[in-house]
Amino acid sequence: MKHKLYLVIPCYNEEEVLPETAGRLKEKINSLIAKEKISKESRIVFVNDGSKDRTWELIQQLHAQDEMFSGINLSRNRGHQNALLAGLMTVKDHADMVISMDADLQDDINAIDEMVDKYLSGIDIVYGVRSSRAKDTFFKKVTAEGFYRLMNAMGANTVFNHADYRLMSKRALEGLAEFKEVNLFLRGVVPMIGYSFDVVYYERGERFAGESKYPLAKMLSFAIEGITSLSIKPIRMITGLGFVVFLVSICILIYSFIRHFMGATIVGWTTLMVSVWAIGGLILLSLGVVGEYIGKIYLETKARPRFIVESFLHGEGSDAKCEKE
Ligand code: UDP
Ligand code: MG
Repeated sequence: MKHKLYLVIPCYNEEEVLPETAGRLKEKINSLIAKEKISKESRIVFVNDGSKDRTWELIQQLHAQDEMFSGINLSRNRGHQNALLAGLMTVKDHADMVISMDADLQDDINAIDEMVDKYLSGIDIVYGVRSSRAKDTFFKKVTAEGFYRLMNAMGANTVFNHADYRLMSKRALEGLAEFKEVNLFLRGVVPMIGYSFDVVYYERGERFAGESKYPLAKMLSFAIEGITSLSIKPIRMITGLGFVVFLVSICILIYSFIRHFMGATIVGWTTLMVSVWAIGGLILLSLGVVGEYIGKIYLETKARPRFIVESFLHGEGSDAKCEKE
């Protein structure tokens, strides 16, 4: 029996790219079916992340025309990561392997063949890694690469230049399902699942229509989210800083005593002001970082659902057919 491949594609206001994307992906899936690498029951699943445009109508149309297309409609916009997770968790019981990718086809779909080959050779997780960013604007390249460097420097280990274009086997997805945290940062958590992995290199193209849904502000908040949900390095750094400040304050204490016994205390006003302000600033900074974690604990204890699926369009009866195969 051939393995079922499911593609999971989060879509937020993607009406401009969807028809083209659907066409190209269908072609790709058909070519893999023709090469007998994947099952005829493979699917392309679009996750509508609370789009404000006609995205969901388009997905419904696609599903009505062709069973190969499935659709998941989220109750509201939850952001790329949650939409992706919703898709992965919804299809994991139907698929043998799942590839997640963006709707704009910036990730070269020809890498799918290589990913599937690696899966067939027994690999559980295949990361798509950008070999170059020649087509990205200078600004996007610098900010995006800075993003990976910052993440790694802060102890959130991710695969460099790998976004969410990856293949995962069924058991890797089952592993992922064991992570119950609400603030789930996929790129950091997937490597924690374990199992065998490999990498496929591809060139990142341009978005062929529409505009990026990841402006700088979103990317920064994504980095902060990733760092605080994966690593406690910021707290360690604060602890280290606190220690250094403590040593400095001892020196200042000794210095003030010497000045006092020399009878020149009033001169110390500047030092006093400077230290009061410096320490005040540090305390505020520390409180901010600690608060960030307390905020996380607060959200985790509430154990809110990470997503709510409103409907799942999925060609029924197809599973039965597949078992006969
Ligand atoms: N996306 C989403 N929800 C959001 C923002 C984006 O599902 O709130 C999807 C979007 O439709 C696309 C993918 O996430 O399929 C990546 O977004 P985009 O291509 O705009 O990001 P960029 O490639 O510029 O980093
Ligand atoms: Mg994009």
